[in-house]
Amino acid sequence: MAGVLYIVATPIGNLRDLSERAQQILSEATIIAAEDTRHARQLLAQTAFVGKLIAYHDFGEDRQAENLISLLQRGESVALISDAGTPLISDPGFKLVRQAREEGYAVIPIPGPCALAAALSVAGIATDRFVFEGFLPNKATARRKRLTKLVAETRTLVFYESPHRIVTTVADMATCFGDERTVFLAREMTKKFEEHFFGSMAECQLWLQESANRQKGEFSLVVAGIDEAQLESQALDTGLALVSKLRTDLSLKRSVVLAAELSGARKNELYELALKSES
Ligand code: SAM
Repeated sequence: MAGVLYIVATPIGNLRDLSERAQQILSEATIIAAEDTRHARQLLAQTAFVGKLIAYHDFGEDRQAENLISLLQRGESVALISDAGTPLISDPGFKLVRQAREEGYAVIPIPGPCALAAALSVAGIATDRFVFEGFLPNKATARRKRLTKLVAETRTLVFYESPHRIVTTVADMATCFGDERTVFLAREMTKKFEEHFFGSMAECQLWLQESANRQKGEFSLVVAGIDEAQLESQALDTGLALVSKLRTDLSLKRSVVLAAELSGARKNELYELALKSES
């Protein structure tokens, strides 16, 4: 195991989800770098861990990464864990992995739980192409701006959210993506009070209001991407609106070319519609 960095996934709730291989690596590693050492001790109680526990978190990540790299240089085997799930997925570890890789150390994944994959695997929403957006910004204006940028995304979207913001986030999503957009919400996966919601944004808001308990715990959200047909019809609407504005100064043909370019609408289809609306 000498001079190797292991990135070890740990449970996202149910401690029995710690894999046999993860238990072995955590028992044999000489150093375990953990986001929260107190929390890590509870998890390590399940293993035969005898190594040294070191803190590794977002704050001061540069210095901590340097320190761990020097331990790798000395031939130690380092296992990185986060509070829950897979390190680096909305969790610290990027700087350490990057530096270890640049310096030629072996970086080995010990895969396992990850809320993003767990939620996607049961959402019932397309999984062939998806985008992981993690946490949205805290501030309302920045959050809505981010969501607005995602309105025309055709791939499935996956978000993480905290209990403090789940209600406002779903409300903002309903405003930006529309009340009818399909959403899957997974609350407290693998834990005692695990609950799932599948339906429209409007229904999701009502579901959250049904009980105060539903607004507690950890949440992952899977949102369907915009339907291609809907996207095309939106582009045509925008294109038509542009044509009618441009027509005061330009020929129909020129207006359509410009409007198609700006709206993303198909030129021929837009031309047909614009022609009809003028006749
Ligand atoms: N590294 C973790 C992973 O692999 O999923 C994610 C860490 S991130 C700091 C924590 C967020 O993940 C939570 O706020 C929540 O959005 C999501 N999450 C973690 N555990 C969850 C669970 N049991 N059920 C639903 N979402 C969960």
